[in-house]
This record gives sequence, C-alpha cells and structure tokens, in this order.
Amino acid sequence: MNVVIIGCGVVGAAIAYELSQVKGLNITVFDQQPPAKASTGAALGVLMGVISHKIKGKAWQMRQTSIQRYETLIPELEALTGRQIPFNRQGILSLCLEGEDLAGWEKLRETRHSQGYQLEIWDNAKLKHICPQVNHGKIIGAVYSPQDRQLDPTALTLALVAAAQHNGVTFKFGVSVLGSLTPEFSSQLETTEGKITADWFVIAAGLGSTPLTAKLNQMVDIRPVLGQALHLSLGHPLGNSDFQPAITGNDVHIVPVGNGDYWVGATVEFPTNGDEIPADVELLVSVKQQAIAFCPELAQATITRTWSGLRPRPEGRPAPVIGKLPGFNHVLLATGHYRNGVLLAPATAWAIREMIISESG
Ligand SMILES: Cc1cc2nc3c(=O)[nH]c(=O)nc-3n(C[C@H](O)[C@H](O)[C@H](O)COP(=O)(O)OP(=O)(O)OC[C@H]3O[C@@H](n4cnc5c(N)ncnc54)[C@H](O)[C@@H]3O)c2cc1C
Repeated sequence: MNVVIIGCGVVGAAIAYELSQVKGLNITVFDQQPPAKASTGAALGVLMGVISHKIKGKAWQMRQTSIQRYETLIPELEALTGRQIPFNRQGILSLCLEGEDLAGWEKLRETRHSQGYQLEIWDNAKLKHICPQVNHGKIIGAVYSPQDRQLDPTALTLALVAAAQHNGVTFKFGVSVLGSLTPEFSSQLETTEGKITADWFVIAAGLGSTPLTAKLNQMVDIRPVLGQALHLSLGHPLGNSDFQPAITGNDVHIVPVGNGDYWVGATVEFPTNGDEIPADVELLVSVKQQAIAFCPELAQATITRTWSGLRPRPEGRPAPVIGKLPGFNHVLLATGHYRNGVLLAPATAWAIREMIISESG
C-alpha cells in the first residue's frame, strides 16, 4: 500500500518513521524545502507535558503518549542512525511569580501524582539553594517537573529522516505538492515533478496545509503566529553546572544548550493585517529583559543569533488538527500543532498509524 506524506517538519518526519515500522507500507515524503526548515527549525523544543495544565481527554492523552514515547524514541534513533540528539533529561522548572495560584499548582501536583507523574513545589529558599542563578524579587517559588524534557527539534527531525530512510522510506525534497489534478480528487495529486498516486495521503504541511486543502475545496484554516527567539552565549553555565533544567516563567523559556549557551524565547505575535506579521523588535527585547530579570547573570551574555518562525495555529478550533479531511476517505490531516508540535509529534504519528492500520486491516 502506498502512503504519501506531505511535509517534512517534525510532524511529517515522525509520521514517516512510525509508519516505516508497519509492514507492507511503501512510504514517500515530499517537502518543498529541505527537512526542518519551517516552524520546526525555529522551535525551542521545550516539551511541556507533565507541567502543562491539560489533565484529561485527548489533550492529556496525547501529551502522555508523547512523554512516554520520547524516552524510548531518542535512544532508538541514536542507535539506528549514529547521530546525537541533544535531549535534556533534567526536567523543566517553572517559576512562580507573586499572585500566582499556588493552590492550583498543588491540585495539579496531586492529579499528576494519581496519574503516575511527579511535580515538586519549591519555596523560595529551596529554589535559591538549588538554582542560585534565579534571583528576582517577585518570585515566590517554583514548580519542578523532573519527567518533562527539552530537545533539539532540528537534530530530532534529521534523525527521524535518517532512521526512516534506513527503514526504506523515500524522501523527495525540493518538490512542492500543488493540489488535485481534478476537482474530483481520488487518489492522485499534482506536484512540481508530475503527478503522484497513493492509497493514503497525509497532510503534515503546517501552514502549507491551508492552500493545499483549499485546492481540494475543503480548506482547513491554519494561520501563522510569529515567534522570535535569541541565542545567548554566557561562556559558563548559570548556577550549578550539574543541574541545568529548562527554566520557564511568564511564558519566557531559558533553555540550556551546552557550553554556557542558552536559547531564550519566544514572542507570540499575531497577524495584524491578513497574514502579515512584521517582527516587533521591542517584543524580542522584552523577552530578553524578562530572562535577565529572572537570571541577572544573563545580562553579561552576548547575543550570537536571533531568529523567528511561524507557528501553525488552527483558526476557531483547538490545536492540533488530526483526522480525515472531511469528504475524503484517504486524506489524513496531521497539522495545526501551534505551540506544541515538537511535544505532540510522537503522539500524532501514533494516531496516524492507528488510523491507517485500522482502516487497512
Ligand atoms: C519560536 C518558536 C518556538 C517554538 N517552541 C516550541 C517548543 O518549545 N515546543 C514545541 O513543542 N513546539 C514549539 N514550537 C512549535 C513547533 O515549532 C510547531 O508546532 C511544529 O514545528 C510544527 O511542525 P510541523 O511539522 O507541523 O510544521 P513545519 O515544521 O512548519 O513543517 C511543515 C513542512 O511542510 C512543508 N510544506 C508546506 N506546504 C507544502 C507543499 N504544498 N508541498 C510540499 N511541502 C510543503 C514545509 O516546507 C515544511 O517543511 C515553536 C515554534 C516557534 C516558531
């Protein structure tokens, strides 16, 4: 059975690898660019699972599936490909500011405990002792989530591609999928390199999913939300070099990436006029200032790079969008992951695998 995946960000690559382990599938992935160049290439890779406020239903189930799968996926990919995937296993530390609902955190801690996960609520004395780099008058404590992770989204995506290739998947980079040959699309799509036929099409094209589904007269409305971030080089680690969790507070992440370097981000900027989002320099400056307010030593760091990317956010419906394209039995959507595409890629791949297996059996 032939499966075509459109898009090779973290979501398309995760699907390709997961499906490559199902017998009898002949898989081809198309991307108009090289892998991990769109939203995925800009992501910070913070996997907010246990520490998220999602506690039930699909939203929590997907997070749980991903958290569990990442623990086996990373060593599996490293062994298969010989590549290193930077994977921070030291957890996520969420700073609590004055006025924050500590009772709410305590409730979440109990819920997570009953679900088999840990959260620790630290008072200021404990926070200062364990993370002396954090020094801000308005912080009243922190929530530490030891089972949450952070990883390098580009390294992960390239490893997924290499592992899928190893398992027989074909990748065609630099090829755009244009849409249907006829309005009565059945099993063919047009690309810049001619038409392609498949039993299943999986649309994992992020923001490109909108024009593609529009061509099939079934537009799924996914809009961009800009995120800017920066790479700071301090030259030495903040605080205790043996304990470098990703730190988050007031929606700003401080992500250790080794050698005293940190990624800091990201802004959340909505389009003002159509799909146009001019990057607001002041917002990036305020993200940096917030990071410095939490960890004053960062004021000494130099900015070695700034970048931005567009998050694919579904309009008027919750993220992500996973399931059949209405009216098409063999077109699956795996898109619109907005702020959590790296976190949710393994669970998305699993869901697509289940849909294909259950319908093909
Ligand atoms: C600054 C920033 C920080 C972020 N931080 C995090 C984070 O910490 N944790 C987290 O989980 N998520 C984070 N995200 C969100 C995350 O990046 C996205 O949710 C995720 O990358 C979406 O992956 P994707 O594969 O669906 O889309 P993309 O990475 O955008 O990939 C889609 C691919 O489809 C291809 N494509 C589109 N149309 C076509 C076509 N017609 N034909 C062929 N190819 C096509 C594109 O070239 C692209 O490669 C962040 C995003 C940004 C911008």
